[in-house]
Amino acid sequence: MNVPLLDLVAQYRDIKDEILPALQELIESQQFIMGTAVGQLETEVARLSDAAHGIGCASGTDALLLPLKALALQPGDEVVTTAFTFFATAGAIHNAGGRPVFVDIEPDTFNIAPAAVEAALTPRTRALLPVHLFGQLAPIERLLAVATPRGLPVIEDACQAIGARRRIDGAWRAAGGLGWAGAFSFFPSKNLGAWGDGGMIVANDAVLAERLRRLRLHGGAKQYHHDEIGTNSRLDTLQALVLLRKLPHLADWSARRRAHAAYYTAALGDLPAVRPPVIDPANEHIFHQYTLRVERRDELSAHLKANGIGHAVYYPVPLHLQPCFADLGYRPGALPETERAAREVVSLPVYPELTTPQLDRVVDAIRAFYR
Ligand SMILES: *Cc1c(COP(=O)(O)O)cnc(C)c1O
Repeated sequence: MNVPLLDLVAQYRDIKDEILPALQELIESQQFIMGTAVGQLETEVARLSDAAHGIGCASGTDALLLPLKALALQPGDEVVTTAFTFFATAGAIHNAGGRPVFVDIEPDTFNIAPAAVEAALTPRTRALLPVHLFGQLAPIERLLAVATPRGLPVIEDACQAIGARRRIDGAWRAAGGLGWAGAFSFFPSKNLGAWGDGGMIVANDAVLAERLRRLRLHGGAKQYHHDEIGTNSRLDTLQALVLLRKLPHLADWSARRRAHAAYYTAALGDLPAVRPPVIDPANEHIFHQYTLRVERRDELSAHLKANGIGHAVYYPVPLHLQPCFADLGYRPGALPETERAAREVVSLPVYPELTTPQLDRVVDAIRAFYR
């Protein structure tokens, strides 16, 4: 029995009857751009993330890029972020005209370390861009405590964390709605995935939300009148419909991911060569990825591959060491925890539709390797 890293066809089979009739109706109307489903999804995702406003856009990358553009960064302006993330996080900073400043992570959660953020602030710092990696929130209240007194906006990269929550001052708070802006991705492999690309920004400030709505439509509030230069970054109505139909399942899917994660951790936790993911006690994790630290990672990877077990290394090359950022001047050793994580991590299948025999297959293959 092969176990894929992700099986989107299994999800499709479960829910296609809820989605296809709505798509057919839209296709017959031929009203593809900025239809009512987009606004409905914006309302729903804003509610889910405890934010006042949702602004659909073309991708998670654009959901980062548009708020960064709203900052009107000047050459040399710095945005502090993590190097242990998907490329888009830092690419968006560059493409908005800023300079990414990479800081190290906390070894337990792989999330950005607040003390390192504080140490990296300079007079050129214009914003913080933390990532809620693998589906659990970064210590956002500590980042806000650094940012808010200095007037620095925090943009949350919540692309892997839709619906994830954290207890702050005794109350549950959701990913995305805590900063100045939050970014979600609906890339098909994300926990809430479209049937193509899509993204959403959430924000609490009404003026910012209006500005972002303009920026995604070439900077014009009224058609053919342009107050500033934006771009074309709309969320397709077809994708919004798919997402609206999937959204009621999200809480259950996240619960199943958590159950699979607990199963793996119980079954692998006694192996000295394996360190299961650590859940920050303040967090409710949604396990976009179930990511272990292991000894002899590359050998384990070859063993899993030979046994038909899907897995992946997120992320093998930290962003501060990517060739495209060489001119930023980082050297190996600059971010030791990030670099160690890049050598040790491996992510296992954790999608909701996994069966117990599949989970056992993964566990047995790992146990056999370290026996
Ligand atoms: C997926 C992802 C993005 C980008 O989203 P796209 O929709 O693929 O553009 C950005 N940041 C992180 C952390 C992601 O996982």
